[in-house]
Amino acid sequence: MKIIDGKKVSLLKEAELIKRIKDFPRSPELAILMVGERADSNTYVKQKIKAAERIGIKTRLFTFPTSVTKEEVIQEIEKLNRNKNIDGIILQLPLPAQLTARTIIDHIHPSKDVDGLTTLNQGKLLTGDVAFAPATARGVVSLLKGSNVSLVGKRVVVVGRSLLVGRPAALLLEKEGGTIIQCHSKTRKLAELTKLADILVVAVGKPKFITEKYVKREQVVVDVGITVVEKKGIKRLVGDVDFEKVSKMVKMISPVPGGVGPMTVVSLFENLCDAYERKEIK
Ligand code: NAP
Repeated sequence: MKIIDGKKVSLLKEAELIKRIKDFPRSPELAILMVGERADSNTYVKQKIKAAERIGIKTRLFTFPTSVTKEEVIQEIEKLNRNKNIDGIILQLPLPAQLTARTIIDHIHPSKDVDGLTTLNQGKLLTGDVAFAPATARGVVSLLKGSNVSLVGKRVVVVGRSLLVGRPAALLLEKEGGTIIQCHSKTRKLAELTKLADILVVAVGKPKFITEKYVKREQVVVDVGITVVEKKGIKRLVGDVDFEKVSKMVKMISPVPGGVGPMTVVSLFENLCDAYERKEIK
């Protein structure tokens, strides 16, 4: 069994980005909007800011109290849309219950929507004219390619169909030449389908959901899931795949942490540099 090393591939991608922005007249700049005080969101935002510093990208963090109104967040987004020095805007999800993500996200100008979550950019994914693919989906494809896994002609089973991960991942993997089977909570006899995969991508959000009964030998498994599990006061990240058992059976597998997570972060900055180049370099 071979580990799909997201940390290693992401560092190579970071090095490519450092080279790419070296000749930019100014540093690309990302605005991060965060509402409330979620421990997981805080961690993800810190990871993004640290990676940006390593690459040489500027970030500007805007924090709002949980009680903020939709109008206040939208007002800030519109200011950032007009700001010529801001190349990308992201809204850290999830939002508090009173705010609907879709209504707010659709105020981000599509040219600055580096998370690829506006209705327009999600529609472009469907037409194949991709503007910005959601970072995790881009990260999954990039991780496979960076690990020398070809997608052309492969049977790819994606478990999960969220707009953030499963659905865009399926579209991108198909674009790369894979034949897709997409599964979700209503799928019957899931194990029969997952066993058909050459490449199995799991984005369910249930720790250790995929056990040995869902896989077979020679498969490549990409685990997108991240759940914080606390045991005896110690917190750790657990994926959707039961790594200990499944890794004994399959050909290649991405771990959690150290698999898709770092790829998501670097893919966001690839999107940001794409946005910068489209705006600044004609
Ligand atoms: P989500 O919005 O909750 O979607 C979960 C998906 O899993 C849904 O499509 C759901 O089906 C499906 N599902 C639930 N139970 C199932 C079952 N028993 N059998 C088959 N499918 C089932 O979650 P998400 O935003 O896609 O995130 C998924 C996981 O990825 C989470 O652990 C999240 O933390 C992680 N994540 C990781 C990264 C990273 O950088 N590594 C980035 C983003 C998210 P229905 O559509 O039918 O409800």
